[in-house]
Amino acid sequence: MQSNIREKLFGSMSEEQESRYILTVAERILRCDGYLLWVIIGVQAFNLLYALIYTNGKLHSVSSRVYSSLYLFLMLLSVIGLFLHRYLKKNLPAKAMLTVRLQVIYGFLLILWGACTTAYDQRVSDNVTVYLIVAFTVSVLVYMTPGQAAVSFVTVQIFLFLAIPAFQTDSTRLHGVLLNTVVMTLLSFLIAVYRYSNYRKGYLIHQEMLEKNRILNEAANHDSLTGLYNRRFLNGQMDEIYRYCARNQRTMTIMMMDIDSFKNYNDTYGHQQGDECLRRMTWRLLQEMDPKQEYLIRYGGEEFLYVGTNLDHKTAQEKAEEFTKVIRDLIIGPSEKDPRNITISIGLFTEIPSMEMAEDKEWINSVARADSALYEAKKSGKDQWIDFSVQ
Ligand code: GH3
Ligand code: MG
Ligand code: MG
Repeated sequence: MQSNIREKLFGSMSEEQESRYILTVAERILRCDGYLLWVIIGVQAFNLLYALIYTNGKLHSVSSRVYSSLYLFLMLLSVIGLFLHRYLKKNLPAKAMLTVRLQVIYGFLLILWGACTTAYDQRVSDNVTVYLIVAFTVSVLVYMTPGQAAVSFVTVQIFLFLAIPAFQTDSTRLHGVLLNTVVMTLLSFLIAVYRYSNYRKGYLIHQEMLEKNRILNEAANHDSLTGLYNRRFLNGQMDEIYRYCARNQRTMTIMMMDIDSFKNYNDTYGHQQGDECLRRMTWRLLQEMDPKQEYLIRYGGEEFLYVGTNLDHKTAQEKAEEFTKVIRDLIIGPSEKDPRNITISIGLFTEIPSMEMAEDKEWINSVARADSALYEAKKSGKDQWIDFSVQ
């Protein structure tokens, strides 16, 4: 029940998600908080300068010394924060949690500083503006878990209960001042929890969208029947693959493959069995391939395009031979009694492209050459490969 409410309010994450999430929080802290630190340093420098000018550089009164110490403390704290930023940026993934914790400590010290200043202000007025500004700033800008926010704000509120009466001697004002600080503390705490919840949920929604995009992309680049890459993948990736071969002076191997007399197979066994045959045959071809440097694309109905990036010409010919052999030997049927074999024909074309060829997208012509070789293989008897490479 309790974990259900927690999940609804703050979203549930796996351990791995949580650590990636903390990393994005840490990245945001290091990206944005530098500005906050500079603003705080600037304001405190101005206050300090003002106090010095106001007292002719002497800081003779107790109050001017107390205020100057407070300004100086916050300034130094923020300068340390800036230095820590530089250190943390160097090795962020390992220091993500530390970054978040340090920000919580800074946030806590900031509200405590605001509470000290406001308590001291009570000597001469019932002004609580400093605490108000600081508490709201921390609740909006500092990333705290609800537990951390509760501990920080309750501690500071207890401090205010103790410190304010020590300086606010007017008992009619005291009640109002304490009430105001309680309202501000409560509001700041609620804002901090709301922001925490929103930030987590926003992150989860973003992750979900990325995952859906990835799945969509995957589906868009794959053929649903065989799971192979489809023509869309070919059009999107072939430039890159061809350029890779040109840059590294590797042989680009292209094979256009087509099942022989597949119409007969469909007519004999039915379309569903034909589908099963396509799946079995592509599965078998994939067993012969290294997915890092060889691609099999469903080019059309029962036509497949093989692209290899790391074979020399002779190995490419051996591969074409191997492909025709393993499909010839493959038993497609459901039993020994009904083995159902098929054969394929292959048109082969290999070349080492130049960078100019890559710029001119010459691979389109290479595919056409492999297609002509396939046509020749069909014409001269099927179940064979023909090579149109220029040697
Ligand atoms: P050839 O040896 O000249 O290639 O003859 P073929 O019968 O294989 O070629 P043809 O182009 O005459 O016929 C191709 C057949 O492939 C026709 C079509 O029904 C079948 N086909 C194409 N896509 C699919 C598919 O996704 N599933 C099934 N079951 N059959 C398909
Ligand atoms: Mg065919
Ligand atoms: Mg065909």
